Amino acid sequence: MLWPFRRRPQAADLDPAQWRQAAAGLPWLRGIDPAREARLQALVAEFQQRKTITPVQGLQLNPVQRLRLAMLCCLPLLEFGREGLHGWSQLLVYPAAFRVHRSRMDAQGVLHEWDDELIGEAWTQGPVVLSWADVRADIAAPGEGYCVAAHEIAHKLDALDGVMDGTPPLPRAWQRQWAEDFQRAFDALHAQVEAGHATAIDPYAAEAPEEFFAVCTEYHFSAPARLRRALPAVAAHLERFYGPPLLGG
Ligand SMILES: [Zn+2]
Repeated sequence: MLWPFRRRPQAADLDPAQWRQAAAGLPWLRGIDPAREARLQALVAEFQQRKTITPVQGLQLNPVQRLRLAMLCCLPLLEFGREGLHGWSQLLVYPAAFRVHRSRMDAQGVLHEWDDELIGEAWTQGPVVLSWADVRADIAAPGEGYCVAAHEIAHKLDALDGVMDGTPPLPRAWQRQWAEDFQRAFDALHAQVEAGHATAIDPYAAEAPEEFFAVCTEYHFSAPARLRRALPAVAAHLERFYGPPLLGG
């Protein structure tokens, strides 16, 4: 086991010119205060040491683009810290939305198979998968309520305690309150969707508690004021969990 003897990566390992260039292209970095930026740098340095970014299907990513991906993946860890990087090692990046083949055996032993088209994916174990076209679209229109990188990292944080259920590991009292507030908001959204009513946030959030957490995370990063209006209790938890929103709107 060599890891404990390896030097911890430092923010100083990053090339300052490259950092400035990468940061200039990310709206979330524009108004960031120096203390949070320093924390982000330390996380990104660690990300670069511990994760492999693998572009697939002919996609090419230059060093600045790779750095931006690392920054986006680390933004949700600003408060949670480096423990948020545990449990996975690969970031696979597709040029655009990708098809995955699914199969599942039901209780009767019948095998169901289908194809899904995805822009991102993260399971309890295994890699994080992102569509580069969608990451770029999020960066180009940061106030639309979408941020696929934050969505998938939310799943990874959720999975840290071994179950993806919409509740990341938290101090006990907070976790109880979180579970209660999220469940109430999820149930209300689910009922709205079932009744065919319009919803204030993406109805995909009503699919499952873990998707609710991941979708609300996207709003925290890209449309925090909308989240606060629609789901104030959830927004308050996320502002504590991720820190104050980096964008208005
Ligand atoms: Zn999801």
